[in-house]
Amino acid sequence: MLDVCVIGGGVIGGAILRELTKYRLNVVMVEKSADVCMGQSKANSGISHAGYDAKNGSLKAKFNVLGNKMMPAYAEELGVKYRNNGSLVVAYSEEEIKTLHELKARGEINGVSDLEVIGQEELRALEPNISDNAVGALFAKTGGIVCPYELTIAEIGNAMDNGAKLNLNFEVCSIDKKDGYYTVKSTDGREVDAKMVINASGLSSSKIANMVGDTSFKVGGRKGEYILLDRESGDFCSHTIFKTPTEKGKGILVSQTVDNNILLGPTAEAVEDGETYTSQVGLDFVIKTANEMMKKVPLYNTITSFAGVRAFSDRHDFIIEESKVAKGFINVAGIESPGLTSAPAIGKFVVEEIVANILPLEKNENFNGRRTPDYFFKNLSVEEKNAIIKKDKRYGKIVCRCEEITEGEIVRAIHENPKATTVDAVKRRVRAGMGRCQGGFCQPHVAEIIARELGITMEEVLKSEQGSRLLVGKTK
Ligand SMILES: Cc1cc2nc3c(=O)[nH]c(=O)nc-3n(C[C@H](O)[C@H](O)[C@H](O)COP(=O)(O)OP(=O)(O)OC[C@H]3O[C@@H](n4cnc5c(N)ncnc54)[C@H](O)[C@@H]3O)c2cc1C
Repeated sequence: MLDVCVIGGGVIGGAILRELTKYRLNVVMVEKSADVCMGQSKANSGISHAGYDAKNGSLKAKFNVLGNKMMPAYAEELGVKYRNNGSLVVAYSEEEIKTLHELKARGEINGVSDLEVIGQEELRALEPNISDNAVGALFAKTGGIVCPYELTIAEIGNAMDNGAKLNLNFEVCSIDKKDGYYTVKSTDGREVDAKMVINASGLSSSKIANMVGDTSFKVGGRKGEYILLDRESGDFCSHTIFKTPTEKGKGILVSQTVDNNILLGPTAEAVEDGETYTSQVGLDFVIKTANEMMKKVPLYNTITSFAGVRAFSDRHDFIIEESKVAKGFINVAGIESPGLTSAPAIGKFVVEEIVANILPLEKNENFNGRRTPDYFFKNLSVEEKNAIIKKDKRYGKIVCRCEEITEGEIVRAIHENPKATTVDAVKRRVRAGMGRCQGGFCQPHVAEIIARELGITMEEVLKSEQGSRLLVGKTK
């Protein structure tokens, strides 16, 4: 019998799982996909929001501000890229300047420090490529950027290094309440018995809650489409630049990423399911808005487009509570933006304020929260690189030329928790295939390395999900 079963391998489930391993508990994460971080957590803006946007007194405001404060140390401990680049909410009319002052006041009530409304000149000095129509901005110095998939993978990997178990391809289809515990069942007949269940299943969270008779909320999907520009244009802007929000939401942003790409997007379109394809209409809107916000957007450096789906609840706030109808069943649902920012604070709260009231918590003296990836090999000095290559020749062989990723890094990603077993899983861990050619050159080599390391045939190597085979058979 396990103590806790966490449903959903996103940044929220990951933060909770890791926090649980700080105590002497037997914990498991179940995830329906072939890898962790396959939902909202893999396709978002990667912004650590300052916290001026959320409604005063909401859970979003509370966890956003706390999470933003925790993020630099959290990312550092997990060996994840983070940068405190600051955010600018830009006004393009005098009317919008009024909204900036309202946002500043709201942020200050939420507990955000270092908010300042700046004028045209200062804005232009900070961002020379801002449109001539910009008249001022709210400068949020505590805004930051973080790699969302690195963060999620690191949380779950670190939790596993500290004893947590991970069951992939485990799509929960029913949950039976027994005498003092739950049996969580998967579509392929596997079962997990646990005293507590934490529902962190993103877009599926109302469906999962329904399985224990909880119909107290509904979660819907809202798609956001993006365009990604190559690192060659990385200095186009340095802050995260938003338009002044309207009633419809935060709108499009233009931002540097931690890997020095430029991100444009996202749109906001209600969708019935988790559909993540991009559309001409959506991308045209991103281009039009980015061109209104900035001058000479280097669209010629576009390398890809993608979409993510936000899981918003009909309570218009995060839902973080024990279910009223199922004791020991915790809903952490409707975690749309700023969920990535809030993750460290939500993980801590769920374990210290909810789980602690249900299960006795005893400290795990062996917990080690540090994770030291070697994924940044290309950033090392020649001497450091040579020392590593001397020990392991595979670090001397570049597989992904665009991102300069070595075979050594790929092999490590395949064997390190949580193990990468698909081409996209390798890509999310070490960036092989994330560059200008988008895997055109390195994908076959990555597939060969996966086949060799896992002892499977090339035909068995998957791109991302079950059934997504890259090769169907030999031609000669
Ligand atoms: C377009 C977009 C932009 C965003 N930008 C930002 C931003 O800049 N900053 C910010 O702070 N936040 C942002 N967010 C919000 C942030 O991405 C989310 O709040 C966060 O990723 C939610 O994480 P999660 O773990 O709750 O959900 P998810 O990452 O969706 O994880 C849920 C997991 O549950 C699994 N699952 C579902 N059903 C089942 C089942 N039946 N059995 C087993 N597993 C199941 C899924 O496969 C998935 O892996 C953005 C979101 C989107 C979509």
